[in-house]
Amino acid sequence: MKTGIFFHPSFLLHDTGLQHPENFERVDKIIKIIKTLKSSSLEHFTCPYVTEKQLCLVHDKTYVDKITNFFPLKKSVSLDSDTTLSPMSLEALLRSPGGVISAIEMVNNNKIKNAFCVVRPPGHHARKSNGMGFCVFNNIAIGAAHAAKSLGIEKIAIIDIDVHHGNGTEEWAENQENFLFVSVHQSPLYPGTGIDLGCSKKNIINYALSPGAGSIDFRQLIVKKLITSIESFNPNIILLSIGFDGHELDNISDLKLISEDYGWVTERICEIAAKCCDGKVISVLEGGYNHRALEESSSYHVAALSKAASM
Ligand SMILES: [Zn+2]
Repeated sequence: MKTGIFFHPSFLLHDTGLQHPENFERVDKIIKIIKTLKSSSLEHFTCPYVTEKQLCLVHDKTYVDKITNFFPLKKSVSLDSDTTLSPMSLEALLRSPGGVISAIEMVNNNKIKNAFCVVRPPGHHARKSNGMGFCVFNNIAIGAAHAAKSLGIEKIAIIDIDVHHGNGTEEWAENQENFLFVSVHQSPLYPGTGIDLGCSKKNIINYALSPGAGSIDFRQLIVKKLITSIESFNPNIILLSIGFDGHELDNISDLKLISEDYGWVTERICEIAAKCCDGKVISVLEGGYNHRALEESSSYHVAALSKAASM
């Protein structure tokens, strides 16, 4: 079977400014490097629009209306100090969660084995009623909610290995039944959450890495803790928030991961998925701001997905 790559050119038009770390060049670099990978197990798909009903599975209607009512927009506006809407942002905002939903449906229907959604803006910091940290709508949470409510998928694991804690996804998941949210992130770091390692909610697990941690610490944590957590939950599908911002070249964090770590962790997650849920993994791009790190890490990530798909 194949690995689906989900992308839409509107993601290049969400204009935060070239000085902004979360700019269009990120996904441009990733898509261009994926196109150089001559794997026969890759197939490219577009991202349809999300519906208002699907957005409201995770966000308040008042917030959805507030965002959509900004458009048509003549001049960029800021939702907070680092989250911007530009005149052409709306299509990207609606096609990012739409792409995640489409990828989940295709994997669930066995049309493809697994998927990588190269979407932006990212989503895992977006909360029920506000955007933050470059995120406006929570792409992966919207996909997860659709998977549970519309597709009837019973047990859903969301793994977040962006270097920042996925606070928005956690807030949404902690009130849901039959979801497991596991985050591996640097702490302390923005947004300052995810430090309660003894979280009272059984379906939320946070694993923090200290500033300066590198490949050995990361891989030990995955092998000794994350794999056991996911396997004992035994999900029917795995959604992965993948951020490449823990890379040693990325100045936004202090972790020292190397590009190969992202291929390695993807292989481990695909192995868990092969045991639990027939290999069903949908990864969704979150952060990652150094272009060389993005190109190399996403190449390793896609190579691992396509290797798993072709087995
Ligand atoms: Zn991040």
